[in-house]
Amino acid sequence: MKQRCYCLTAHHQPLERREEDVPEPKGGDVLVRILGAGVCHSDIHIWDGEYDLGSGRKLVLRDRGVALPLVMGHEIAGEVAALGPDAQGLKVGARVLVYPWLGCGECATCARGQENLCLRPGSLGVYRAGGYAEYVLVPRAAYCIDIGTLDPAEAAPLACSGVTTYSALSKFGTVLEEEPVVIMGAGGLGHMALAVLQAMGGKGAIMVDIDEAKRAKAVEAGALSAIDGSAADAAKQIMAATGGGARLVLDLVGAASTINLAIAAATRGTEIVVVGLYGGELSVPIPFFPLRPLAIRGSYVGNLAELQALVRLALDGKLALVKVNRRPLDEASEVLAQLKAGKVFGRAVLVP
Ligand SMILES: [Zn+2]
Ligand SMILES: [Zn+2]
Repeated sequence: MKQRCYCLTAHHQPLERREEDVPEPKGGDVLVRILGAGVCHSDIHIWDGEYDLGSGRKLVLRDRGVALPLVMGHEIAGEVAALGPDAQGLKVGARVLVYPWLGCGECATCARGQENLCLRPGSLGVYRAGGYAEYVLVPRAAYCIDIGTLDPAEAAPLACSGVTTYSALSKFGTVLEEEPVVIMGAGGLGHMALAVLQAMGGKGAIMVDIDEAKRAKAVEAGALSAIDGSAADAAKQIMAATGGGARLVLDLVGAASTINLAIAAATRGTEIVVVGLYGGELSVPIPFFPLRPLAIRGSYVGNLAELQALVRLALDGKLALVKVNRRPLDEASEVLAQLKAGKVFGRAVLVP
């Protein structure tokens, strides 16, 4: 049997349509027929082949083991089409969300359930074939999370933007039930963070964005308030809105300007979790860390248990799934180009 897939064969070039054999599930593999594959901003970095590290330095993905040709797409939902002889706990026909952030499965980090932090990553759509196709091979049944009657196209973004915001917000522990979270960036990821925070029982979000329309939308979606990050007194406004200083900050932008604004608006014990990959570099007086005390940490996607917990919130009706922009798989290359040009509103999901 053959399938269509859209393959990255050269950086910056349009994806190539290919006809390939549908892989046969062996051992514990699960073959999933794709019903929706999200197009994520990080796919643009893979397309470009690099991240900006500031001062003219770049992180080149080829040096990190990302090899071409590659079928991108790490937000995958679909239907179990076939099972390898050793795959257990799944039935053909079940609708599933695929956990894509795979590790080697053998090291201590993977054994702790933190495969997203494994030094030998094998993420779907990054290091091995992902979702810009009709079928994807998943190496273990546990990575296929039952989504019941949830819409697969709407569930797909939970695998990246959903679990990324859930994992980052989880790092605040139960403090988020008592203190508002200042969220830098009110775009698509910001709205996902707001919905996830509400589902987690958070006290609320103060959204910061330089775009007026995005700020208005954030308040409409239930944010406590929205602040213009480019205002000269933005730090003062954040301090006023938080009642004396931001205790919890989720930076979905990840620029020097947003982290510096967070530090300027900090209080004692401020925790800043950085998720955004805008790029650049940071200079922080070291005494801030012990004296304030200030914590700045990163968060990278999320682990399998976190994605399972997030799907549970959606199945229980606590997390409202965000409407998505459905596009035919055959438009994969156009969608990617439009996303890069900032012309896609909402999450684009490719449907074969
Ligand atoms: Zn992503
Ligand atoms: Zn590992």
